[in-house]
Amino acid sequence: MDWKKYFNSTILSRGRQYYHEGRVKRLTHRDHEWFAAVKGSRSYNVIARMGEDGDIEGMECSCLYAYSGQNCKHMAALLYAVEADQKENDVQTESELAQQRMDKEDKVIFSIWRMRSSAVRWAVCLH
Ligand SMILES: [Zn+2]
Repeated sequence: MDWKKYFNSTILSRGRQYYHEGRVKRLTHRDHEWFAAVKGSRSYNVIARMGEDGDIEGMECSCLYAYSGQNCKHMAALLYAVEADQKENDVQTESELAQQRMDKEDKVIFSIWRMRSSAVRWAVCLH
């Protein structure tokens, strides 16, 4: 997700600082729309909408800086939080995949074991 291109470097580093200071509260999302309250001199409501490809489609913030049509540090802070959240999800998905791989291996071992036991039964019949 290349959202950093929408911010100048000053805003970006202040947003990053906000995120690291834990100022992004109540981060939630509905589909591709992310919401949070970012605490600056007061609490601001921030929304970021993403497209299917993860690119930013629109951002809103209740601060004056955003009102003047610019991308503010609160939006940047929200997006840092989203990025961190998605990384966490990736890790979870990775361990789920590992679990699925293990399940598959178990099944393979089980079917080999069944083949063996039926071979043994045949051997008994031939006797
Ligand atoms: Zn703002």
